[in-house]
Amino acid sequence: MTPIGGIHHVLTRNWSRGVILKTEQSVESPPARAMMPDQAKPDRDRSCAPRQPLNLANDRPPPVQLQRLVIQPNQLDDGHILLVPSQLHYLQRVLRLRQGDRFIAMDGQGQAWVAVLAAKAHESQAEILEAITAHTELPIRVTLVAALPKGSGFDEVVRQATELGVDQILPVMSDRTLLNPSAQKRDRWQRIANEATEQSERLYVPHIAEPIAFGHHLQQEADRQQISDAPIQKYLGVARGTSPHLLECLQAGRSSDSTTPIYVAIGPEGGWTDTEVKQAIAVGYQPISLGDRILRAVTAPVVALSLIAAVWERR
Ligand code: SAM
Repeated sequence: MTPIGGIHHVLTRNWSRGVILKTEQSVESPPARAMMPDQAKPDRDRSCAPRQPLNLANDRPPPVQLQRLVIQPNQLDDGHILLVPSQLHYLQRVLRLRQGDRFIAMDGQGQAWVAVLAAKAHESQAEILEAITAHTELPIRVTLVAALPKGSGFDEVVRQATELGVDQILPVMSDRTLLNPSAQKRDRWQRIANEATEQSERLYVPHIAEPIAFGHHLQQEADRQQISDAPIQKYLGVARGTSPHLLECLQAGRSSDSTTPIYVAIGPEGGWTDTEVKQAIAVGYQPISLGDRILRAVTAPVVALSLIAAVWERR
């Protein structure tokens, strides 16, 4: 099956049958993974000028998006999607879609299609109608290296980091980490990342790596630097002290307009030990501040990723 390129649609709600596709506009190619910041974006009024209030009496209902579903690339078969039972259950029982209803299928690796639920004889299939495109990825690759907080706090970290555009999440156990994750945790976090990708209309599902010791991550970095001179901007959140603010560091990096990937590392509730900070600095991590208050381990990633998005999505 050949993707047809991107087609923008105006979607409106048919109140008895859910969401339908209404009109077609321009055709584009699928987006490159790492866009340069000033690359063309869809036309939108980005000025801060006050808007005219909506006249709800005269305006049509606002556009509504089709529901989204992440599929595996191997589910594609000659213009069709072979749905697995859990996906059928989600589409038919949870979303209450019926034969002929449309949804957006996405492979989590940059491709998405409008698909239609097939007739009863082929109940486990959806037919692909056309490829679509979106501009919802950050123009720079960001890896969040996050020490596991206690309880289920990492679920929120995964969900929010995905919404904010992270490319990869590396859960780490640091010297003061209290949680020892069970083997099923990574699968759960990956499912949460899938859901958050659908919700935030991204095209790429972040990869959730297997949890490793923070020291192991630092050793891997040291080894990588022996064989590769590909630069990475590495920032280590340190809650106290006189480190420069992450915003200053990002602005300096942005002014050179380099799309060097970013690692941002956030510690556990008890913070990094002095030894961990020293070892991280030794492999190129820059200690940074996220402001004058002590943020929780689940809040700090949100602040760091919001700053990255604000700096890199600025026109
Ligand atoms: N108990 C630690 C202390 O008193 O210094 C605070 C740890 S904080 C709850 C958890 C992690 O969030 C820290 O290790 C750091 O990575 C990050 N963090 C929290 N607030 C921060 C800030 N203001 N600046 C930079 N990083 C921060």
